[in-house]
Parts: sequence; C-alpha cells; structure tokens
Amino acid sequence: MTVSDDIGWIGLDGPAPRAEVHGEKAALLASAAGAGLVVPPAFVLPPEHEDDLDPLVEQLETASGLGFGAESGPLLLSVRPSAPIGAGGMAPAILNIGTTRTILPALGHITGEREALHLYRRLIQSYGTGVLGLDDEEFEYALHDVLRLAGAKDETALETGHLNGAIDTCLALIEEAGEAFPEDPLTQLKTALAAMGTAWTGPRAQARRLAMGLEGDMPLALIVQVMALGIGPVPSGAGLASLRDEMTGQTGLTGRYLPQAQGEDALMGLRTPHVLTAQERADMGLHEPSLEDDAPDTVAALADAGTRLEAAVGDAVGLEFTLAAGTLNILEVKRAKRSARAAVQIAVDLAESGAISREEALLKIDPQHLEEQLHPAIDPDAPRDRVGRGLPASPGGASGPLVFSPDDAEAAAQRGEPAILALIETSPEDIRGMHAAKGVLTVRGGMTSHAAVVARGLGKPCIVGARDLTLDTETGELSTADNRRLSEGDIVTVDGTTGDVIAGEVAMIQPEATGAFATLLEWADEMRRLGVRVNADTGEDVATAAEFGAEGIGLCRTEHMFFQQGRISAMREMILAGTEAERRAALDKLLPMQRSDFVQLFEAMPGRPATVRLLDPPLHEFLPHGEAELRQMAATLDMPVAKVAARAAELAEFNPMLGNRGCRIGIAYPEIYEMQARAIFEAAIEAGRTTGKPVRPEIMIPLVSAVREIEILADVISRTAEAVRNGNGSMVEYTIGVMIETPRACLQAGEISRACGFLSFGTNDLTQMLYGLSRDDAGRFMPEYVAQGVYAHDPFHSLDTDGVGEIIEIAIARVREHAPDVPLGLCGEHGGDPASIEFCERIGLDYVSCSPFRVPVARLAAAQAAIRSTLSA
Ligand code: PEP
Ligand code: MG
Repeated sequence: MTVSDDIGWIGLDGPAPRAEVHGEKAALLASAAGAGLVVPPAFVLPPEHEDDLDPLVEQLETASGLGFGAESGPLLLSVRPSAPIGAGGMAPAILNIGTTRTILPALGHITGEREALHLYRRLIQSYGTGVLGLDDEEFEYALHDVLRLAGAKDETALETGHLNGAIDTCLALIEEAGEAFPEDPLTQLKTALAAMGTAWTGPRAQARRLAMGLEGDMPLALIVQVMALGIGPVPSGAGLASLRDEMTGQTGLTGRYLPQAQGEDALMGLRTPHVLTAQERADMGLHEPSLEDDAPDTVAALADAGTRLEAAVGDAVGLEFTLAAGTLNILEVKRAKRSARAAVQIAVDLAESGAISREEALLKIDPQHLEEQLHPAIDPDAPRDRVGRGLPASPGGASGPLVFSPDDAEAAAQRGEPAILALIETSPEDIRGMHAAKGVLTVRGGMTSHAAVVARGLGKPCIVGARDLTLDTETGELSTADNRRLSEGDIVTVDGTTGDVIAGEVAMIQPEATGAFATLLEWADEMRRLGVRVNADTGEDVATAAEFGAEGIGLCRTEHMFFQQGRISAMREMILAGTEAERRAALDKLLPMQRSDFVQLFEAMPGRPATVRLLDPPLHEFLPHGEAELRQMAATLDMPVAKVAARAAELAEFNPMLGNRGCRIGIAYPEIYEMQARAIFEAAIEAGRTTGKPVRPEIMIPLVSAVREIEILADVISRTAEAVRNGNGSMVEYTIGVMIETPRACLQAGEISRACGFLSFGTNDLTQMLYGLSRDDAGRFMPEYVAQGVYAHDPFHSLDTDGVGEIIEIAIARVREHAPDVPLGLCGEHGGDPASIEFCERIGLDYVSCSPFRVPVARLAAAQAAIRSTLSA
C-alpha cells in the first residue's frame, strides 16, 4: 500500500505540510508542533486523494497509542479544512469521528459515561449537517426540547437517560431524511472527507470566496487529526486566545474559555465563557473566575505558546486550544486579525525581536493603511446607517451638521462648530469653505477632481462622485436613492476611507503617528532610493509634511494662494485690467502678499528644496460665476458692471483645460510671472536670512509643450533675478524647471532638458491629455468603466503604466541622452499611490511628490519598491 507524496504530516515522521499545497491552517499547525508545543498528531491530504486511509490512520494510532474503533482505548479524530489563504467558504470542522455505539463503554472509561454520550450525540449532529447537508436548526430544536423537558441549561447538565433521548432524536432526524448514521469509524471518516471536498467546490462556497476577493477555485486540503477531548475529566474544556490587542497591536493575552467544551463552543453562547486572565476579569469587572484563577499554569503556557509561535511563524497569531484532562493542546493557529495601527506595531515588534527582518517588516504593511492612521478613523465595528456611497477621495472620518455652501462652512468654523460641506462639485473659490469644513462630500467628480485634490492636500476626509445622492441646492436637500431627505443641519458622517456617506454620528478612533509608526518609517528611509517631497501651498501644510518626513516641496500650486481672504480682489483687479499698466498696478498689490506666503512656505522647511510652480489655471477660474456674484464683484472693485461682464465673457473659453492656461498665461502676460518670480526670490532671500539656511528655489513652468515657451519665460525669470540682485544687493541660487504634463512635452523632453534645470512629470494633466479624458468629469463614468474592466483601475488614481507610463519612459530615455544628471520628479496625484511609486522606482525617477498626509505612504511604498527591486535583481 503506498502513501502518496502529497500527504503532509504534523507531529509525525514525514514531510511537513506546505501552505501552498496543504493550506495555511495545516502549515501553521505544523509550525506550532515544530516550536515544541503540544499539537495532536495529524496527516493532511487533498480531498481528491486516492490513498487507502488505513495506513494513514495506523500512523495516528501508533502515535497516540489508541485504536480507531477499538473497544478499549478508542481513538477519535477530527477533520478540518485548510486552504492556502484565509477561510473563505470553508465547511465547519467535524469532530469526534470514530465514536460508535460499540466504543461508548470504552470511551466512557476515559471521559466519563455522560461525556461519552455527549460526544456521540455531537458527532451524529455533525454528520447530519456536515455530511448529509441537513438543517442544523432542526437538530438544535430537538436538543432544545430535550433540555426543556429535563430542565437542564445545556447538554453538560443532562443525565444519561436524557442524553440517550437526545441521541435517539438526532438519529431519527437522519432516518427521516432516508439516511443512516454509519456505525463504522472508517466510513465516518471517508464520508466526512468526501463531504468537505464537495462543499468546498460547490457553487455557494465558490461564490463566497469570490465575494471575499479570494480565488473561487482555490485548492483545499483536509487535516485529519487525533482529537484532544475537551469534554472529560476536569480540567477539560476549549477556548480561543489572542496574544495581541486587535486595535493597538500591543501584547496582552485575551480570550475566552469554556469548561467541558470543544472547538469554538466558547464563542457560541451556550454558556457564559470565562475570560483567560485575572487582569481581563478585573478590567471587565466580572465576578466569575478567569481561567488564570483556576489554572494559572495553563494561562502561562498559553502566553508562552503565543510568544514561541510569533517567533516560529514570523507573525502575530491567535490560537484555538483544548485543555484535555489538564494538558494544553494547540488545535488551530490563525494569523491574528488586526487594525491598520496594530499591523504596524506587530511588524515593528517582530523585527525588533528578530523573528523577521526589517525588510520583511516593511513589506508586511500596506502603505495605504498608513494614511488612515494619521486621520481620525471611523470605528470599523461601530454600526453605520449608510445612505450613499461615492469615491473614497481622501481618507479618514468626520461627522457634523450638513451645510450646502462654503460660506456656511466658514460661518460654522467661526462659531467653533463642525460642518460637513456637501456640494455638487467644488471650484477653486470654494477652498476656504473646504478648509473650514470637517469633511467634504461632492455629488460629482473623480479622484483628481478639484475637491479630491484639495481635500487630500488639506488632509480632510472627502467623498466625491456620490452619484446615488441628489443635491437640490434650491431647496437645500440631499436625497438618497431610497428617498430619505437630509436637510441643512442634519448630522452626517463621511467615511473618506471607504466612500460611505452615513446618516448620524459614528464613533471615531483617534490617530497616533509616533512609536512603532515612526520606527517603521525610519527603517523605510534607510531602504528607499526615491526622494519624497510634498505638494503643499501653505506654510501650515509644509510644516505638517515636514513632521511626516517630507524632504522638500515638490509642488507649490501658487494659484491656491490667490483664493485666500484679501487676495482674490487684487487678483480679480489684475485679471480685469484692460492695459499692462493697470495689470502691473494690481500685481504690485499682490506682490507683498505672495512674498509673505512664500516666506512662510520656505521657513516651514528650512534649507530644503522648494519647487514653486508659476500660475497655471485659466484666469476665468478666478472670476465668480453667476450674474449676482459678477455684480457684487463689480461693486467691490468699483468698476462698471458692463466692463466686468465684457471682460469675463472675453476670458470665457470653450475648453479651458486646453485653453489659455499654464505657461500660455506667462507668454501672454509676462508681468504676472515676473511678479511671481520676484516674490519667490525676495522671499527666498528673506527666509534664508531668518532661518540661517539658504533657500534654493526651483521655479517650475507649467503646461509646456514647446521649447520656445521655456526660452521666453526663462528670459523673463532671469531678467527678474537680475533686477532683484541689483535692487537688493544679494540674490539666491535658483533653478528653472519644467512641468512635463502634455504629451508633446514628453516627446520633446530631450530638447526641453537642455533648456532647463529639472523636470517634473505632472501626471494628472498628462493622464487627462493622453487618454483624452476630462479629470473633472471622469468620475461620472469611471465606476462603470472599472466595473466592466474597460480600465483595470482609475488611471487618475493609479498610474496607467502601459500608456501614460510608456510616454514617461520615452521622455526619460530622451532626457538621459542629453542630460544624464538632470533631476526628474513626479508630482501628480500618483506620487502618493504605492503602485505608481513602484513604477517610479523601476523607471529611475529621482523623487515623487504628494499631498502631506500621503508622505508616510510614499516613504513606505518607496522603501518597498526598492526592497522588491533588490529581491528581483
Ligand atoms: C498635474 O497635472 O499632474 C499636476 C500636478 O498639476 P495640477 O494637478 O495642478 O494640474
Ligand atoms: Mg497640471
């Protein structure tokens, strides 16, 4: 008789189970046996095995000194499913296989007579449900009737007469179904194995796995193990233990234990379980003794088992254990469930204890989960009344009364009250309202729409494109798909991590970015090659980013500064000016404001590289929409309404994103860029003086498509530098660079690199232009596009490495021909996306730049990319 190679052995001679063949459960259990813990012997086989079971069972008999079906010293077995990852769609374990009428007296010698009957009845029920597919509830009802008649709380309190009655009722249920309970142990085992294999491949189990994001046709293995009887001589019982707090990841034993129990009984609510430690009992104010009070050695052994397993497995684990007549048996080892924060604590602890390397610790963490930890997050266990869903544009949670205008959000902030700002979509003039609100919700928009970009920059929870909600700005009502109406002042919660819009308030978890979080990122910094900078427009944001470890400013969008209080009027005056002289007069008013903004910016990150982009958006964006607002603006500026309206109409464009914006504004009105360059230089001189660290500004020209644009504007900038030097007697060193965000700029990158000092890929516009896809409107159809697999993912969120990536690679190759050392960065939203960062590492960019709260994400993702590239080299 042959034993095939695909059998794995636990606690016995023979090949140990491997996760990819025998499932994770079997592999982890083998690690427990390898770590010297008491694990009942077992073999693991695929359901479709053709092995004769006799020689396999014989091995278990020899190891345990018991006999399968023996009338003295009977061996009982369990069968548990084990899959490569997780437990998607698994049938429950079948326990006590091998219990038959004939072995009951012998089993009773070991366990006690009543206990033996109890085990027998449990097997009959498991056979009925697990093998024959009968309804579990029918068995429970039948048992319940017996308990009621006997006046007993649960089965452990039943006398033999009643237990026999319960057994007969269960057997009758099987007979009613036209089946018979097999009184032959080997038949019990074979049918259990076959049933589990069939259940695993059934359509319901496959669908459940797919719903959990697992492969539907994932292979399964079955663990056949000697039973450790949790029902029998005192102390016997079963429980579950976890060695770390699920939310924080800190060590500390917690769990539940139920005497005279098996498997997961402790969680089933049959009887009130005991907690494990005296500490937990005291914390919960319980009167019942803990397991530690009754069996301190067992609890010490459990804690020790956890520590040894962490070292052996290289991960935090949870345990299912059985106390069999005082002996602690480990029956199942699972990777511990953990919050994002706990995951970081665990990874750092494991590396510090030497269980895993620092590289492994870094690779264990999903970078996206770091960002969540910097914002208050919605407690995942708190109940939520979801009323709508959109794109999760900026993570974290926020609750507050609904407001439908940026002014109302500001008014609420002035009163010191929270507000959730809900709008159809946002435009640059809404920034102050967004700043004031606790969270932002827009009905339209995609992942790089204005609201999404600004909210990420501000670190505000934000949902965009919540298309199942309807916002009626006239009536001030937000209605849901099921016709619920939310009015101004109604409390809502936005979950920017999941995209859920929730009615009412939900419990939050507060952030913490120190301790293990900081340690992990220090390790990341030691491993990464890519630089990480921040996209930020205010000193406050730059200071936040510096705390999060940004190494410089990769993109300051100067236009954001013009929307602030006191500036927008001067900006509008400049835009509406009819002549260069009028424009210069307005620019003179803007200069000191812009200069002081830059001073704050440079001072917030002294001596670090600072890329400041010259004005980019179409000028029309700075003008109010609507006739009433236009009239109000005319009054504020003391200008005739007709003149204002005429100028606004003149500036209106059919397709502003491809119109007069970016460097085209600088070419048309060089005095605007001249003012900005002067403000940058003067601020750099001042900040260098106040901080003692020289500032070396990098001035970036947006939306370039031709080399000549750079030549003209570089001339404006260097003439301004000369003027500042002459006027000031001092000057800073500076570089002029180009934002590569049009397809033509990519193709011309070789020529461009000869005309400038650095290049930064603006992948938001580049994606928009290469796809011919409006970044502000894509949200309307993107979910369908992704759902139908037209795009694998939203290309505004994660870089399209095939198309946009290819043109970037072409650009880099052309740059490197001419300028091997010119610094190359990326500052689109993709700079904070781990998959895009991996691509940036592969193509050899020098740095990525992203919004402040994504800086830690980028640091870790860059480290992971570097580690992976070393591993694959
Ligand atoms: C870009 O286009 O990628 C970019 C960073 O600039 P903005 O988002 O301001 O257009
Ligand atoms: Mg751009």
